[in-house]
Amino acid sequence: MAGEKSRGIGPQIWRRTPVTVKKARSSRIAGFYRLTMEERLKAVRSFAGLTEEEAQAIVRGAPPREKLDHLVENVIGTIGIPLGIATNFLINGKDYLVPMATDESSVIAGASNGARMARVKGGFKATSSEPLMAATIQIGTTRDAKRIRKIVDENKKELLRLANTRSSTLSRMGAGAKDIQLHEVEGFYGRLAIARLLVDVRDAMGANIVNTMAEFIAPQIEKMTGETVYLKVIDNYAVERTAKASCVVDSNTLGGERVLDRFLQGYSCACHDVHRACGHNKGVMNGVTAVVLATGNDTRAVESACHAYAARSGTYRPLPVWEKNQDGDLIGELEIPVPVGIVGGLTKNHPAASACIKILGVQSAREFGEVLASVGLASKLAAERALADEGIQQGHMSLHATNVAMTAGAQGDEIARVAKAMIREKEISMKSAAEKLTAIRRG
Ligand code: NAD
Repeated sequence: MAGEKSRGIGPQIWRRTPVTVKKARSSRIAGFYRLTMEERLKAVRSFAGLTEEEAQAIVRGAPPREKLDHLVENVIGTIGIPLGIATNFLINGKDYLVPMATDESSVIAGASNGARMARVKGGFKATSSEPLMAATIQIGTTRDAKRIRKIVDENKKELLRLANTRSSTLSRMGAGAKDIQLHEVEGFYGRLAIARLLVDVRDAMGANIVNTMAEFIAPQIEKMTGETVYLKVIDNYAVERTAKASCVVDSNTLGGERVLDRFLQGYSCACHDVHRACGHNKGVMNGVTAVVLATGNDTRAVESACHAYAARSGTYRPLPVWEKNQDGDLIGELEIPVPVGIVGGLTKNHPAASACIKILGVQSAREFGEVLASVGLASKLAAERALADEGIQQGHMSLHATNVAMTAGAQGDEIARVAKAMIREKEISMKSAAEKLTAIRRG
């Protein structure tokens, strides 16, 4: 997989997306977690300028029934996943409240905590590449890939023109199909020539337009080469579409030199043992996937791209890079593929997802990718800091105890009372919860 990046259509253009800050507003909302659900929604409404209808869409969660039956097949209902807001995010000088849909406790608190730590030294700096997605077009099984390369190269202009007839919207924006590149791999049944059609998909995730273009030019390629075209489908390994976030974390904010050293020891373990690398990246994806889900984007596309990217050297490695700088502070950097959109797919057809994109306040898919990389870095920062210090169970304990209390049948204020009693006695179990609940109900 080495050298994948060099298949880009030219040098990657790394730049910060221009960001417009409409009015001074801060995502540093002290005590946000202490508010009631209604109060939190009110604060988010005021931050993001949500309408009553958008706020109601979030409260409802599910799309209206008349839409639901058309979204996937054989629908019988929806399954609710909690939607929360991560606070404290400062990215390229702009404040963000980040909607996160997750079933795992500590993920939203962790992201907020990581963002708070990064904020002390200016928050996250983020950049992104152009929004290029690709299609894989598998041309024949051939001994003569050179001939195919020559034909495709000679006809590239015409093939790109044909591909671009499929989207007037992208063409109008100066986006659309940009290049076709060929590479060869050894297959089961002979050598394969594989063309990659590169498409600037602007603010969409792009799967549908890329697939449409690839299917449209495939018969033309067959005609030109005399070969069979087998696969013609989006390349989910979105290496041409990445975002990078970095931050400096003040060592005292992190917990001092001891915690920093233990943090880096843990990172060393992840770099040298795939068992830990997998967990390290799970901590990144806790944050990334939660935002991708909240915004109605394709979690599977982002997950598969990120994990493949983690193995781009040929060995599966941690996605972030952590180091100590000359001032003794921690620096973190994360680069991930970001095949996500703010138009298309579910983003407009799911009212709650649409409202989440509005809360995020991103103006382009590139800016969205930069937020995702920052959230992934913040999530990992908080989790790895906890591992380097008190361990993660302490952070998980309160929500875990609450879950156990609810499972044991506690209701209303019984939930907090049962959870607190279990934490006090350091025994969180169904048996313990049931005993505490019985005791509370007896008075
Ligand atoms: P889409 O099909 O809705 O296309 C985006 C639309 O938005 C296009 O019609 C485009 O013309 C329009 N548009 C308007 N303004 C635009 C702008 N500024 N930039 C770009 N387009 C603009 O959405 P999509 O992104 O092509 O497809 C995403 C969906 O496809 C996801 O739901 C994903 O799950 C699904 N999908 C994924 C795969 C895969 O990953 N293997 C395969 C098939 C489908």
